[in-house]
Formats: sequence, C-alpha cells, structure tokens
Amino acid sequence: MTTQTALAAFPPSREDGLARLKDFVPQAGRDYATRRNFDLGQGAHDNVSCLSPYLRHRLVTEEEVLNAVLSKHSRSEAEKFIQEVFWRTYFKGWLEMRPPVWGGYWSELTFAWDQVQTQSGLRRAWEEACRGETGIECFDAWAHELVETGYLHNHARMWFASIWIFTLKLPWALGADFFLRHLCDGDPASNTLGWRWVAGLQTPGKTYLARASNIRKYTEDRFHPKWQLAGEAPAVSGSENPPPMAAPDGDRLDPAGPCVFLLHEDDLSPGWLFDLGLEPEASATLDTTGRMSILTPAEHVSAFKSRAIADAVARHDDRLGPVTSGLSDAKAIVDWARDHGASRIVTSYAPVGPTADLLREIEGIEVVRPLRAFDARAWPYATKGFFKFKDKIPELLGELRGLRVA
Ligand SMILES: Cc1cc2nc3c(=O)[nH]c(=O)nc-3n(C[C@H](O)[C@H](O)[C@H](O)COP(=O)(O)OP(=O)(O)OC[C@H]3O[C@@H](n4cnc5c(N)ncnc54)[C@H](O)[C@@H]3O)c2cc1C
Repeated sequence: MTTQTALAAFPPSREDGLARLKDFVPQAGRDYATRRNFDLGQGAHDNVSCLSPYLRHRLVTEEEVLNAVLSKHSRSEAEKFIQEVFWRTYFKGWLEMRPPVWGGYWSELTFAWDQVQTQSGLRRAWEEACRGETGIECFDAWAHELVETGYLHNHARMWFASIWIFTLKLPWALGADFFLRHLCDGDPASNTLGWRWVAGLQTPGKTYLARASNIRKYTEDRFHPKWQLAGEAPAVSGSENPPPMAAPDGDRLDPAGPCVFLLHEDDLSPGWLFDLGLEPEASATLDTTGRMSILTPAEHVSAFKSRAIADAVARHDDRLGPVTSGLSDAKAIVDWARDHGASRIVTSYAPVGPTADLLREIEGIEVVRPLRAFDARAWPYATKGFFKFKDKIPELLGELRGLRVA
C-alpha cells in the first residue's frame, strides 16, 4: 500500500513531472512567496511545487523549471521560488567541491550504525523515531507521512531534523539515512547538507532549533508541541569543512569511435548527449539503490527510481541500441562494455553520491563524463555561503537559452 500511495503521489515519469510543473507555474510567483512555509499536511501540499522527485532525477531539469516559471512571471515576482530551485544547484556545487564531506557522512553513519547495534537504549530510541512512536505528535505524524508518501514539506524536514538531533538526541547521520531511505527525492547533496545545516556543521556553530510556536503557526494549529521540545540546540561537533577544490569541468564528447552509454538516476533526460552526437552501440542502466544506505531503502524509493529509469529508456529507445538493465558493480559494467566491442563508456557527469562512487570504481576502460553547461556554469560559484551564490543568479538566468531537448 505504501508503494502505491507514494507512486500515486509521485508517478515516476517525465510526462507527470511536466504536468506538475505546468499546474504549478501560475502559483510560482507571489503565492509561493507568501504561502511556501506552511506545512498543510499529508496530501495537501498545494502551496509548494512537489517537483523535487522529478528535479532530483532530472526527469525535469532545473533549466526547464526556471524557463517555465520565467515565461509566466517576472524575475522579481518569482524571486523566492527561483532561489529555492538554485538551493539545489548550490548544494550540488558545494558538495562537488568538497567530496570528503560525503565520505565523512558515511563514516558518521557507519559509526552510528555500530552504536545502534551495541547500545539497546539507542536502538530503541532510533526504532521509535523511525516508526513514529516517540509520543511527540507532530514528529510521529511526519515520520508516518515520510514512510507512506516518500515526501515531506521543507519546513517539516527542518523541524523533524531538529527534533531528531536536539530533542531525541539521536545521531544526525542516522536521521539523514532515514530520509534517504524513504524520500522519493532523496539526494546526496541536499539531504546531507540539509541535515548538517540543522546540526550546526554546515555553517559552523549555527544550528536550527525547532520551536513549538513556529510549528503551531506554520501547521495552522494542527500541532503545538508545547514543553515537548528541546529549548536549546548546541552545535554537534565534527571536523571543519574542507577548503573547496576546483569545480569539475567535465569531459569533451568526441562522437567518433565505438562507445557504449550508461544511463543513471542522476540524469534521466539524456537528450542533450544525443544532441552532441552520441551514438552508442548499446546502453545499460545503473542500479545504485544498494549503495544509498547500510540498510535497504524503502520499496517505494526503489520502485520510483526503477520506473523513472524505465521511463527514460522508453523515451529514448530509438537512440540507445540494445539496453541492459540494472548493472550495479564495476566489473559487470566493464564486461558488458567489452562484450559490445567498446573502448569508451559515455555517461553524463554524476555529482557526488552513489552513482559517482560506482563510476569511480571502473578500471581498464575509458569513462567519458560530459557535464551539463548549466552545472558547469553554476557549480564554481558555490565556494562560500548561499548568499554569495545568490548574487550570481541573475547572471546564471541570463545564460539560460530556451528549453533543451530532453
Ligand atoms: C534536513 C533536510 C533534508 C533535505 N533532504 C532533501 C533531499 O534528500 N532531497 C531534496 O531534493 N531536497 C531535500 N531537502 C530540501 C527541501 O526540503 C526539498 O527540496 C523540498 O522540500 C522539496 O519540496 P518541493 O519540491 O515541494 O519544494 P518547493 O518549495 O516547491 O521548491 C522548489 C524546488 O526548489 C528546490 N529546493 C527547495 N528548497 C530546497 C532546499 N532547502 N535545499 C535544496 N533544494 C531546495 C527543490 O528542487 C524543490 O523541488 C532537504 C531539506 C532539509 C532541511
């Protein structure tokens, strides 16, 4: 039932993503700016776009969303929504220039998971939080909503993470993992950095404290956890943010010579590669769900991803050649490429996360990873905080040139 509920809320196809975008565009101006912070409850999130599962997998791209919004609203009218879309871009760029932060998350998670297995009190508290049985009504409702629908409103994510860390005193990495295993939009950058921000690791010393009055106001009185929440939020200790490396510029795609193509969950609109002349002998899809967590992701997450990938294959089947589905380890990828007589594997650049981790393990064959122009232009600006990045938004918008073929 949960899988059906989540997939009914987020049908995993580009067509459904575009339909949602079309429906939402009229609201992306002042309506969004005034109403976006309200969490109106499961099944009632009409004040926000709910586009994140589509954007996360690039069933619909940031450029398409921005272009659609700017075709109906002025930049100032849609400023708030545009900024939110660029938060995703910023977080991806920030992590891309600091990949050890992703490794650091995995170390924290592995450590916390060991503790869960050896400390019965921690295990019980973690299980109660994941099952939504803490006795804090709002938190429990959000845990159920997440598990049933694969989505939470942004404000609910902030409150939930804050209560997880500062009231329940659970390790932040276990909370980030709980989100990744259940969100249809689970994203290595937005999720890891969102949790780190609440914990006081992202902007050192600056934490986010969930307050009962704020929850009451922005849930329109559905919840009022008076006296139930921590009154302070001391920053979680952790290592300093590493200095930024250079942002990647991606590989040049030389269309000459036999190659095979890998389609992955981080870019399910590969039309731009065919526009660059890609003509693969064969293609394969990657399955990296087993690399998202130490535990098994929720069924609806795997189902969303596999159906979204199948949708991308169906849309491009005239360009892909014979398609092999669900490769999940480096040796299988290399064997498959060699079976097709290829000396190169082409795949769109995968940002820091499970797909990039898998691609990095490939040895003995060239892997060509072209980077979308949008990412190449925007990511290098994510050197400091979002407020500096934000100043570049007008320039980045100015460079958008119509919709790309998806
Ligand atoms: C602790 C925590 C964990 C999060 N984990 C994820 C995650 O795993 N995957 C994910 O996609 N987002 C994550 N977010 C960001 C944000 O909550 C979601 O992107 C947003 O709620 C998605 O709903 P929407 O599409 O209706 O957003 P809207 O309000 O309609 O915003 C439009 C788009 O802007 C982008 N966006 C909005 N807010 C943010 C934000 N704070 N950070 C980055 N991008 C944003 C998204 O692409 C979103 O689809 C997290 C935030 C927090 C605080």
